[in-house]
Amino acid sequence: MREFQRMCLVHYHEIGLKGHNRSTFEMRLLRNLEAHVADFPVVTIIRISGRLCVFIKEGTDYDTACRIADVISRVPGVARVSCGYVCDRDLDEMYVAAERAVNDAGAFETFKVKARRNHTDFPVDSMEMNQLVGAYLCEKFPDKKVQMKGQDLTVCVEVVQGSVYVYAHSLRGIGGLPVGSAGKVVCLLSSGIDSPVAAWRVARRGAVCIGVHFSGRPQTSATSEYLVDEIAHVLEQTGCMARVYVVPFGDVQRQIAGTVPPSLRVICYRRLMFRVAEALARKEGAKALVTGESLGQVASQTLENIMATNAAVKLPVFRPLIGSDKLEIIEQAESLGTYEISSQDAPDCCTLFMPRSPETHAKLETVEAAEAGLPLDEWAAQLADAAEATDYRCPAYKPKKRAKTDKPAE
Ligand code: ATP
Ligand code: MG
Repeated sequence: MREFQRMCLVHYHEIGLKGHNRSTFEMRLLRNLEAHVADFPVVTIIRISGRLCVFIKEGTDYDTACRIADVISRVPGVARVSCGYVCDRDLDEMYVAAERAVNDAGAFETFKVKARRNHTDFPVDSMEMNQLVGAYLCEKFPDKKVQMKGQDLTVCVEVVQGSVYVYAHSLRGIGGLPVGSAGKVVCLLSSGIDSPVAAWRVARRGAVCIGVHFSGRPQTSATSEYLVDEIAHVLEQTGCMARVYVVPFGDVQRQIAGTVPPSLRVICYRRLMFRVAEALARKEGAKALVTGESLGQVASQTLENIMATNAAVKLPVFRPLIGSDKLEIIEQAESLGTYEISSQDAPDCCTLFMPRSPETHAKLETVEAAEAGLPLDEWAAQLADAAEATDYRCPAYKPKKRAKTDKPAE
């Protein structure tokens, strides 16, 4: 049987709505996809009226093409990805390409053809195309039935400009906007379940995410750092983590623990973490901080405590999980692939020097009074300088400048 070029057709929703910015968004998505399919047999990606088409190398099998589609479906900005063939604007070509696409798709009993043409310069209209391609497939697959609703298989035929795109395998993408289309944020990344999900959510809205992790080192082992690195590698697969700074926080934490009343320790650690994150944000040109807090989830995540931590910084602090239930967050972490990593035990810097009963309704004046003698500005600057950066694959991120301690991800 005649060979056709395999392709993945990438559909997007929101980008299409962006008016004159549309081509910037499309190019951003195109560049991001290029990086994410770099390890696959892809020839090129081009823009075709309201879609991106990923051309796959000749001789590539269906399973590999499906794997490419799967990777694409998880990239922010992708609403749907379909896997099939491109052929000439010729009915006979369309028939055979449709037959190929149906053969690829595996077991089915019922099907329907959904054709559309982008321009009326193609002489056959979509109704006629439905009938013609449908009739051809009925002949080739005589034991299968056409069904208009609830069919097992939908064979799509799209005439766009000079070519025809034919596919029977289509999967939903995660939606959102391409990473790099909405500025940059600094995400506070613990090795826990919530913060990677929070980062992913803002990345899906187009933000480039720079992580910052506070490790208990040298007072604890570096286990949490390894977990954060693993988490970043997972997020990197879809471009959702650009760089992670690790801040050895143990010594300063010990000094705070020795100075402020036990009930206020956690809030003081938090306020300092925010200041360090803000210093790193300034260095990176990021315009907001992001945390994985969710209202009332643990005793420290009360409105009073949230207010007291916010007061330590000027940048806006986003909490994408504020209204989410733990179970919803766990489900999302599972589908992202971070849950198992996050479920491993690590001596987090917050558990270090943990008081027996942390304050749940901290008053800002009390916290400020307790901190009064501490060289917080100095510490924040020192810790931001001491932060060790690791870069991950995020095509939308251009590092401002590399510090001496920076090392590339393995
Ligand atoms: P997570 O599951 O993200 O660890 P959590 O439910 O354990 O969150 P907290 O320990 O109260 O809740 O942390 C709230 C948020 O503060 C985290 O989601 C994260 O954004 C930030 N955070 C906490 N610990 C650290 C840390 N060691 N390094 C960086 N950020 C942290
Ligand atoms: Mg935690």
